[in-house]
Amino acid sequence: MPQSFHPPQRMLLGPGPSDVSPRVLEAMARPTIGHLDPQFVAMMDELKSMLQYALRTKNALTLPVSAPGSAGMETAFVNLVEPGDTVIVCQNGVFGGRMKENVERCGATPAMVEDEWGQPVDPQKLEDALKAHPEARTVAFVQAETSTGAESDTRTLVEIAHRHDCLAIVDAVTALGGTPIETDAWGIDAIYSGSQKCLSCTPGLSPVSFSEAAIARIRARTHKVQSWFLDLNLVMGYWGQGAKRAYHHTAPINALYGLHESLVMLQEEGLENAWARHRSNHIALRDGLEAMGLSFIVATDYRLPQLNAVRVPAGVDEAAVRAALLTDYSIEIGAGLGPLAGQIWRIGLMGYASNPRNVYVLLGALESILA
Ligand code: PLP
Repeated sequence: MPQSFHPPQRMLLGPGPSDVSPRVLEAMARPTIGHLDPQFVAMMDELKSMLQYALRTKNALTLPVSAPGSAGMETAFVNLVEPGDTVIVCQNGVFGGRMKENVERCGATPAMVEDEWGQPVDPQKLEDALKAHPEARTVAFVQAETSTGAESDTRTLVEIAHRHDCLAIVDAVTALGGTPIETDAWGIDAIYSGSQKCLSCTPGLSPVSFSEAAIARIRARTHKVQSWFLDLNLVMGYWGQGAKRAYHHTAPINALYGLHESLVMLQEEGLENAWARHRSNHIALRDGLEAMGLSFIVATDYRLPQLNAVRVPAGVDEAAVRAALLTDYSIEIGAGLGPLAGQIWRIGLMGYASNPRNVYVLLGALESILA
């Protein structure tokens, strides 16, 4: 007879998901109501305005896609890219590669701007690629590369894209809530994130936001968006502010209660305070790791506070250390990906998990395992 599943209580200090606040879990256990219930619709409106707060935008088209960050990414590409387009994709880690896949599956051609893993996107390389591809209509890049812990300069990259008459798609899955994002002030055209990182919610929702210029591009499309589920023309009918809501898909009701609660928590703390908390806990972790002789792969100027990529010391079995952390201390940290596999650990201090207690428990556990 199958038994109920009772997961262990972990400390999630990897690249995500991160620890979910008990307040969010409690919110998700509240009664399920209908997705067109007036009280649910009122909650959706509030959720939308809290997402606008978190993303620093007045974009009317701001909503959580009912699926994980990859679906937010796909929403941006399938709506903004048409067959035959050229899209400049900046790649400095895993997720730029996923963007390239998206572009190809839209029937468009990716023109790649490659930077080494651990480096930010080089604005000069983007400028050169745009000069070489005057036909390009879109630029896409990742602000916070979760595979390396490097942060790119979104403001500068968006400014370059606009100077070449391109719209800018920004991946903010790991960035949102942990590091500054100014959707409107930086002129971002399409941005997507995930619920499971610095927002401290469960995985499975992807906040997205689109500028007026992006909406104009969507309205002017000559090809139907190939994905029915992610076609914003249809999704807007359900999430559209003020407009009569029409059934599109059954919203993940309780998951949205969770995101609502996590955004209430973010507003209570204040966005700038959340950024400062991520920074100060990162500094405490950095000091402890460096005191143990460990070093970072990303230079100080580009280092994300919420994702710390640390070199595995020579002679240390990196998988055995992660296994010991999980088995003996119930702490999860991440491994390296792609060319960094076996070379780094990825330590996340994201959202609710970014606190001094976690920093010191992890440092103590690591020190005893490495001793
Ligand atoms: N983009 C980045 C930068 C990510 O870190 C992730 C997930 O880790 C994704 C996209 C995809 O998000 P998800 O795993 O929620 O689909």
